[in-house]
Amino acid sequence: MTDSATAIGERITRIRQELPSHVTLIAVSKSMPVEDIRQAYAAGVRDFGESRIQEAITKQANLQDLSDITWHFLGHLQGNKANAALDRFDWIHSVDRLDLAQRLDRLAAARSQSPALCLQVKLWDDPSKFGWSLADLTADLPELLRCQSLNIRGLMTILPMGLTEQQSLEVFQQTKELAGQLEQQTQGAWQLPILSMGMSNDYRLAIQAGATMVRLGRSIFGDLN
Ligand SMILES: *Cc1c(COP(=O)(O)O)cnc(C)c1O
Repeated sequence: MTDSATAIGERITRIRQELPSHVTLIAVSKSMPVEDIRQAYAAGVRDFGESRIQEAITKQANLQDLSDITWHFLGHLQGNKANAALDRFDWIHSVDRLDLAQRLDRLAAARSQSPALCLQVKLWDDPSKFGWSLADLTADLPELLRCQSLNIRGLMTILPMGLTEQQSLEVFQQTKELAGQLEQQTQGAWQLPILSMGMSNDYRLAIQAGATMVRLGRSIFGDLN
């Protein structure tokens, strides 16, 4: 094995020891070569995250022998790529606006699919980031509830840069609370057990707040140690 391969395996082993067993480790392999994905796979990872459709298509074509990978789409999804995302991914974490949800719903109905999704939320004021604010999500809720072909499993969030640990923890906790509130508001029509939150910088805080999926790129593939 090359040094970098050993390093990927060692980092994964170290991270796994920190993760409670109910937390799914998603290796975010965007911009990483397929060799690195194979190394992570060899170390036991089966969940991989990508954020660009075209890049994912190319890589997946080279990884067809690894047929038990679960693929997670994490990036901002353009409407005209929604169909390709449903073709290629088991999960879409980044459903961040009503027209995308409605398009996915129509496509899913036509395909008799019920794709697993997270709604991407942002519980702080940041116009430069994607995702629903609390006010927008509340406003869109009746329309979202009509999207009956969607299998909405939980919430996803990405924290802005520059928060303190305490602020980060609070935003993660608020995201978990919001999932509970939405279950109540929708009177059980939505069950939202999945909390996709925590990246290399902040996954320990996210787990403390109840994350069930962490999305780690640099702490697995390098660039952060
Ligand atoms: C890149 C990315 C990650 C991984 O970030 P790291 O800081 O490298 O762990 C997680 N989630 C999303 C949505 C990303 O785009």
